[in-house]
Amino acid sequence: MSRVNLAGLLPSELEDLAVELGASRYRGRQLAAWVYRKGVFDLEAMTDLPKDFRERLTERAVIEVPEPERVTVSQDGSRKLVFLLADGRRVSAVLMPDDDRMTLCVSTQVGCGFECRFCLTGVMGFERNLTPAEIVGQVLAANRLLAPAQRVTHVVFMGMGEPLANYGALVTSLRILTDARLGVGYSPRRITVSTVGLVPGIEKLGREGLRVNLAISLHAATDEVRTRLMPVNRAFGLAALMAALRRYPLAPRQRIFFEYVLLDGVNDSPEDARQLARLLRGLRAKVNLIPFNDWDGAEFRRPPLPRILAFQSVLLDAGITTTVRWSKGEDIGAACGQLREPVPA
Ligand code: SF4
Repeated sequence: MSRVNLAGLLPSELEDLAVELGASRYRGRQLAAWVYRKGVFDLEAMTDLPKDFRERLTERAVIEVPEPERVTVSQDGSRKLVFLLADGRRVSAVLMPDDDRMTLCVSTQVGCGFECRFCLTGVMGFERNLTPAEIVGQVLAANRLLAPAQRVTHVVFMGMGEPLANYGALVTSLRILTDARLGVGYSPRRITVSTVGLVPGIEKLGREGLRVNLAISLHAATDEVRTRLMPVNRAFGLAALMAALRRYPLAPRQRIFFEYVLLDGVNDSPEDARQLARLLRGLRAKVNLIPFNDWDGAEFRRPPLPRILAFQSVLLDAGITTTVRWSKGEDIGAACGQLREPVPA
């Protein structure tokens, strides 16, 4: 019988497992605290659990989270963590310090099947979904790396893969990360899920009551340009996407984030900015402009600075909060759209 991985189980499932093994639910809660609060993955080290319970657990369960195989530090202070998974594949997460924030960008899939033309990860193609243990494990590993002085303060699901295409594992991970009583305990306001705009997934996520932030990889304000950049737009065009976003339940003061990679001569004209302002009218929105990060073989270029600032001005003049996000970790292949890990032959 294959043993269950305790990391990646909901705290309530850990309680159920404790009962199944003849212990009380309280033991399951202790187990959750060890794994998710203290980041301890060795059953032997869980000294407040009775020995016979630990023995029964050892027969039935393992605790397996990916450990970073390599950590690369960028000149700007960000760190790329490369995880070797049990099947030999690799994914990355990126730690980005910023004032008193420590944001971790996590991956949800190995590779990605959406083929956005400006994204290096898309070039890899889709290999497989990550499990909840592999997703939550990136956060736990980053916190272990930072301990004791620091902790990850914000988690963004913007790494390798499309989170909503791995829906079940995503939602389980979010429940573990946001469980204030027994999980990792992040406020949902500190977690952001980024999607290319899978409308059914957005609608489903809205009904989960998780209250996490939503970010849309938009990158164009017309269907024509967006379809050219992102083939997914053929399945879910801008009209359907914007209608779903207008229905998306937002908490007071919560906004939807829009990611917009600026590509020289493709989507960066003042008219593109005006179209974008029209598209977002009436929505509680914040736009993050991301000047393109060059990579070898890319068919796009970063626009010159005056063009980036002119684009931003149009949006600001329309009353839309807009920031330019100068990517972190460019020198270590950790910037937005640059994540790619070789798979050993
Ligand atoms: S931008 Fe996101 S969805 Fe598009 S190919 Fe890259 S990882 Fe996939």
